[in-house]
This record gives sequence, structure tokens and C-alpha cells, in this order.
Amino acid sequence: MGKKVTMEELVAFCKRRGFIFASSEIYGGFAAVYDYGPYGVELAKNIREIWWKEMVQLHPNIVGLDSSIFMSPKVWEASGHVGGFSDPLAECKQCHTRARVDHLLEDIGVFADEKMSDEEIGTLLTRHAAKVVCPKCGQKDFSAPKSFNLLVKSNLGNFTGSMDDPAYLRGETCQGIYVNYKNVVDTARVKVPFGIAQIGKAFRNEITARQFIFRKREFEQMEMQYFVNPDQAAESYEQWRQKRWSYYVDTLGLKEENLKWHEHENLVFYASAAWDIEYNFPFGFKELEGIHNRGDYDLSTHAKHSGTKLIYRDPKTNQEYTPHVVETSVGVDRTFLAVLTDAYTIEEFEKTDNEGKKSLDSRTVLKIPKKLAPVKIAVFPLMRNKQELVSKAKEVFESLAHNYICEFDDNGNVGKRYRRQDEIGTPCCVTIDFDTLNDNTVTIRDRDTMEQERIRIEDLGEYFSKYF
Ligand code: ATP
Repeated sequence: MGKKVTMEELVAFCKRRGFIFASSEIYGGFAAVYDYGPYGVELAKNIREIWWKEMVQLHPNIVGLDSSIFMSPKVWEASGHVGGFSDPLAECKQCHTRARVDHLLEDIGVFADEKMSDEEIGTLLTRHAAKVVCPKCGQKDFSAPKSFNLLVKSNLGNFTGSMDDPAYLRGETCQGIYVNYKNVVDTARVKVPFGIAQIGKAFRNEITARQFIFRKREFEQMEMQYFVNPDQAAESYEQWRQKRWSYYVDTLGLKEENLKWHEHENLVFYASAAWDIEYNFPFGFKELEGIHNRGDYDLSTHAKHSGTKLIYRDPKTNQEYTPHVVETSVGVDRTFLAVLTDAYTIEEFEKTDNEGKKSLDSRTVLKIPKKLAPVKIAVFPLMRNKQELVSKAKEVFESLAHNYICEFDDNGNVGKRYRRQDEIGTPCCVTIDFDTLNDNTVTIRDRDTMEQERIRIEDLGEYFSKYF
């Protein structure tokens, strides 16, 4: 395995190559909010599409949904977010940095229970005070923990203009799925077991905003809630755990040694099992996806608070029950960071100059699976000042652009253009040279092997449809 990329290298790379920019950068940025640049937006789109294909397209019993970011505030009261969606924060007495106490304790190998009160977690902090260090100034003196609610309030009033009941920006996408459960059952001809999948923005008042796009205040979730007969919940949960693991290894092509399971030691009271798939980010193994066996908590809670029956009647047995929910939940942004961490490679290779002399050179190459690559094909005229080459290259570019995200590049020499495309992970580069004008063939150069082959222009369509 090569050298692991550092966070600083990745952040600099993302900016330099137009993957990720800090939000409002010309105004000094805005903490924990980031923008996807021209290549980032393509990679994020590919991540969404691959997840959607895996979950919805390849599962006839999973349907999609796009619920709104705004929901009735009653949803967040019922789900427990208004009362309990909070992190325990403590302030460093020296430099006044506020930090999540569960994270501070985690750093020294102590795991707090999610149900703990501020007082209980405070006792735990006091017990380990000698080891708990401020991440900013290194002192070991913290104030007593206080809960900090993560829901982001908006100033959207109700129809009478009152702000008594603030509307929140959703803190997770799955609540939109639970409250549409009945609509989907009544209209989509689904039968238990079935799933509802959704991709969308979520917002959290993350206070210890650090670690780049790993922890954003505006982020995007890809969630699937699978509704099952309570008797089958445990089995279904195991199946989803296996499926989600192989999704990362086989579909996204992440290196298996960079993934591991983490079992939640302290479950929320309604859950019967919770495992995370962790990825080895530049700052170590951290949660990439959560897979939870949530019991009937979500539907029962919304049934109770809304007064609407949220049950399922088995058409064969007429048995009525509240389905249990198996949830898979991952962020677009954390997938993005995992994909980049996995793919970012600096490698040495042997090059041969015009006189046949060999020497060592190095290059940065983003070895992402071709289906994730932001640009699929780059098209170059060998020289920018030879009109015949440029117009032929434009012709090739235009015909390929119907089916693939392509880039036309006539800057610098071909060697420099290859470097640029390697860095952003473009799998294929097509060069139009003087031979093209005689025999209508072009050179295709492969990102990973750097090997080149000649292909006739009329065969390019078939070549790439097999390749991608
Ligand atoms: P953490 O413990 O890291 O705060 P969480 O357990 O609160 O995460 P969930 O509520 O289970 O996370 O959210 C499901 C998924 O959504 C996570 O696995 C992660 O991929 C993504 N996610 C959650 N919070 C953020 C965030 N602030 N920024 C980016 N992605 C996030």
C-alpha cells in the first residue's frame, strides 16, 4: 500500500483542481460549509447515481422519494429531535474552544452512552479529566457539559405569521420517509418487505465543525428505510449489512483494508442493533454509513403523535402489524471524502525520452473507478496552432460529448495535459495528431497503465461503450 494522503494534501488538492471550495471564500469563508466546484459536482452526481442504481434500480421492491426540506414542526417534536437531538458540549477554560464531550472521551478510548444526561456525562468527564485534552490549546480544564440542540431553526412563519412554532431545516432525511409511509403503501403497490429511498440535504448545527467535508453543517444524505415484518427484521438486517459492505468493496471499489465494522455499544432505547461501516479517513477510522435495526419506533411514534394509523395489513394472512425498520444511512460528502482518500495516489514510473534514455518520474493520479470519474474522456489536438488538428479534435469531442462528460484541452504540451487529466482521474485521453489526418485514427491513452493504442475514429463509439 502506498503512503496515506494527509488531510492538508487533500484539502489543497480539492481546491487546486476545482473539486471543493470553502463557502463564501472571498468573505473569509463560513465554518463547516463547503461548495462543490466543477469537478466536485460531477463526482458528487456520480456518487448519487451509483447509490440510486444500487438501491432503487436494482431492487424492484425499493421505491424513491423526494420529500421537502421543510416539514411540519410537529414531525420533529414527534421524532424526539426538538427535545433530544443534542450533543453534549464543554468549553475549554483556557482558550474557550467548545468541543463535543463524547468526541473528547472517544479520543482517549472512553465511550459515552447516548442516553446519558449532562450530569452523567459530566461525571465521566471529571473521572477522566487528567487525560482529556483540548484539541486547540492542549490544556486539560473543561467546563461542565451542556446539551446543544443540533436542529437548525428557520424564520419561516406559519400562515398567521407567528413564529411561535419555528420551522426547522430537516436534521435528517428519513423523517420524510416515515411520514410518507402511508402514501407510498396506498399508491405504489408495494408489499412488505419493501424500501423507500431518498437523497437530499440535511442540516445540523454542528458545533465542533472540523475535518473538512466529513462534518458539514449543510450536507447530503442517502437513506433507505426498509419496512419488514417484525419476525423477519433480524434476518433482513443481516442481509443489509452484507449488501452494504459489498457495495463499498465491489461497487465503489474502496480498498477493503480501509473499511471496518463498528458496533454501537450503547444503543438508543428503541434500536435492537446498530453497526457502522467505518472508513480509514486521513484522520483515522470514522463512521461512513450507519446501518440500524430501529424496530417499530419511528412508525409507532408518528402514528401516536399524528393520530394516523401507520400499520400494514398482510394481504395473504390479513395479519396487521407495525412494520419494523431497517435503515441504511450514508452521506454523499463522506462517500466523496472516502473515494478521494482511497484514490489519491502519488506514483513513480519509468519514462523514456526521445533518445531512448530511461529515467524515473512521478505523477499524481486519482485512481477512481471509471464510473465515478468526473471527466470520462479528454480530447486533445496534438498542437493548438494547427487548424486541421484543432478542428478534427473538436469534431471528435462533439461526437463523444453526447454520451460522456468530456473535456477539450489544447493548453501546453500533451505531457502536461496527461498530468492534468491524471490528477482529476480521467480514465481516457484521446489525441488527434498528424497521422489522424491521413488514416483517421487517434491515440487512446489509459490513465492507469499509461499505455497507448490506435483506434479508428469511426470505432470510438463502440470502443467507449464497451469500456465504460
Ligand atoms: P456522527 O456520529 O459522525 O456525528 P451520526 O451518527 O450523527 O454521525 P447519522 O445521524 O447516523 O450520523 O447520519 C447518517 C450519515 O449521515 C452518517 O453516517 C454520515 O455519513 C452522514 N452525516 C451525518 N452528519 C453529517 C455531517 N455533519 N456532515 C456530513 N455528513 C454527515
